[in-house]
Amino acid sequence: MKNIRIAIDGPASSGKSTVAKSIAKNLGYTYLDTGAMYRCATYLALQNGVTLTDQEAIVELLKEYPISFGHGEGHQGKEQLVFLADVDVTHPIRDNQVTNNVSVVSALPLVREALVDLQRQIAQKGGIVMDGRDIGTVVLPDAELKIFLIASAQERAQRRFKENQEKGIASDFETLKQEIAARDYKDSHREVSPLKPADDAIIFDTTGVSIEGVVNFILEKSKEIIDK
Ligand code: C5P
Repeated sequence: MKNIRIAIDGPASSGKSTVAKSIAKNLGYTYLDTGAMYRCATYLALQNGVTLTDQEAIVELLKEYPISFGHGEGHQGKEQLVFLADVDVTHPIRDNQVTNNVSVVSALPLVREALVDLQRQIAQKGGIVMDGRDIGTVVLPDAELKIFLIASAQERAQRRFKENQEKGIASDFETLKQEIAARDYKDSHREVSPLKPADDAIIFDTTGVSIEGVVNFILEKSKEIIDK
């Protein structure tokens, strides 16, 4: 069986990570959440009192506290864990403070360079599903399958609202919607590697489509390529 690389890009809360995880599990592939890596860089800067635009200092912190992934029992059963050096930061990197500052850090060219290098190293073996913003355009421009997921801002805010409710986090729907729109705007308008579909990506609007529906569509496309 051929091991392919699958790039799944799209805006915030478009369902990328849920879908990517499920596809990786189904195909027995590695799943790499590149958003978690930018969140780690942001978390390190915030924790160490480093100015969020000081790219040299953030790159140094990333060397001092390397990012790694593992598996373990989480709130919702087995989950992928994220570590900085040997500290489990799986949950802290999802905090609002990180979420609302990550687009500033992810726009820094030196931070992107360091993290893209790492992403490419992890993808070298093939058999990978990677989700992010620039996977199809920059990280893996020759990925065998590129998917760009979109969904209305309303639906994405609803998904985030529901997720928060399930986790017992209080949130205001309108605020969530505004935060999502602000992050999309920053991610799409930055100079380096902005959020946009690759020319050869399949654009899939997930508004009103179940997770299962999206997963099945991508699995079908994957299998067509794998069996070719
Ligand atoms: O996917 P997630 O929402 O966790 O990503 C958090 C942030 O990381 C995004 O809003 C974006 O600023 C940044 N990001 C990026 N490039 C990627 C993945 C995420 O710039 N490949």
